[in-house]
Amino acid sequence: MHPRIEVTKGDITEEEVDVVVNAANERLKAGGGVDGAIHRAAGPTLQEELDRRYSGCATGEAVVTAGHGLPARHVVHTVGPVWKDGTAKEDELLTACHRNALRCAAEVGAGTVALPAISTGAFGYPVERAARVATRAVVSALKELPEIECVRFVCFDDGTKQAFRSALEVTLKEMSWESEEDERPGDSRPSSPVWMGSE
Ligand code: ADP
Repeated sequence: MHPRIEVTKGDITEEEVDVVVNAANERLKAGGGVDGAIHRAAGPTLQEELDRRYSGCATGEAVVTAGHGLPARHVVHTVGPVWKDGTAKEDELLTACHRNALRCAAEVGAGTVALPAISTGAFGYPVERAARVATRAVVSALKELPEIECVRFVCFDDGTKQAFRSALEVTLKEMSWESEEDERPGDSRPSSPVWMGSE
């Protein structure tokens, strides 16, 4: 089975997937943005589970809970980096977020995962740059996680959706070129394991 990546516009709390990824904070306390929306939709038992099981989550790491009142079965909470100036390991930490979130999703047997545009709201990451980092991290993580069938970036507005669509296109070209060069010189078959989804 080939993994798939899609980019859509919508409210991630409505996604009927196995795992919704939350852009959480290190204290794992309900905040604003997508985190606030997820907590409101999931209900207070989500915070209760977080408080019972975890004392916090470092930037770049991920933890998992049940989905509570969400249609999703689980929530994977990951903490994205706060944007400073691009020299504070922001790209490495955002890559780690995506890799660890998908590993966590695979550990609970997820086939479908919805991701928000982590760090691009209150944490101030430039959207185009975040989209490049996120799409590269997901394409590369999926190569090692064949059980995940579909990853959907659920963007809240048109600008973010466009940035993720463009970034995904560039990333897929880059990655398929690399793997053709590296693994199959002279072979013209499409080598990317990822298809671009439609809305
Ligand atoms: P961070 O603190 O990681 O920057 P934010 O929640 O402030 O997280 O923003 C991350 C992204 O999530 C932003 O693009 C924001 O517009 C988007 N967002 C906010 N609410 C939702 C939602 N309900 N569904 C999907 N994306 C959302």
